Amino acid sequence: MVTGRQGSGQNLKGSRDHKYSLQEVASGVYLITDTNYHNVFTTTGDGVVLFDAPTPLVGFIEPAIREVTDDPVTHLVYTHVHNDHIGGASQFVTPDTKIYAGAGTAEFLEARQDPARPVPTHIFAEDTTLTIGGRTFEIAPDRFHTVTGDLLINMPREKVVVAIDTLGPDWMPILDFSITADMYGYMKIFDRILGLDFDVLVGGHDEHVARRSDVELTRGYVHDVYQTVKRVHSELDTSWIYAEERRDEQRLALELFSSVWVDAGKEIAERWKGSPVQGAELWAESHCRAMFLYVNWTD
Ligand SMILES: [Zn+2]
Repeated sequence: MVTGRQGSGQNLKGSRDHKYSLQEVASGVYLITDTNYHNVFTTTGDGVVLFDAPTPLVGFIEPAIREVTDDPVTHLVYTHVHNDHIGGASQFVTPDTKIYAGAGTAEFLEARQDPARPVPTHIFAEDTTLTIGGRTFEIAPDRFHTVTGDLLINMPREKVVVAIDTLGPDWMPILDFSITADMYGYMKIFDRILGLDFDVLVGGHDEHVARRSDVELTRGYVHDVYQTVKRVHSELDTSWIYAEERRDEQRLALELFSSVWVDAGKEIAERWKGSPVQGAELWAESHCRAMFLYVNWTD
């Protein structure tokens, strides 16, 4: 077990030293974290499989891998398109590297031609079981975070699930539920994750991996936001404002809409104050605004 090793990174201006630690979260599955971002790699006996290459961790990934193996990175998996999670990818790509992604991610990167995020060489269009060396990966294209789609990855033997930007064990999701582009898909992913037999959930952020209880707790929070916004929203009546002059109509719409997420946000922040998951007081209003957009137009 490798735990708590400190590597040195560049200093962040005006901030603490930027360092990483390496944890073996399951046999041969390693987590690199700077306490905010994290990502995983695994040895396979046939090269290293690296899941994402977050930009903030890019200087740490190679030294971290070298702490446990001399094998090259042979496979790189993009969980989703966001550049904070895969913006360091080009550093790990050789002409022989296999790069995997969901179809929507691949389509975007093909069109975008961003040198930092090389175009995938292999696409997951449907649920796929991938065997690399001695390891099995169950890859499920889903959509719970980005409009271009996200991968839900299960390593059944190791009982590790990778679902990036779903939740963390220590902090609430940030802005708009980790800027989810699909609230319906986001709310559903918790049940899909809990339907898997896992011990470790890699969510992409925080110092630690999440456990089943963390998924249940965050699911409870998300559903509380949904029910609260739904209740406050049910008292909203905007029908009368359309008889107003256009400028007043727009001003009133803004006032009425925002009253829903402000009132619901206050209630949520109060109810989740002191929760083991920090940050409700910071992000509840944003969560309620994102939920309002879903409830008012889609639900
Ligand atoms: Zn993301």
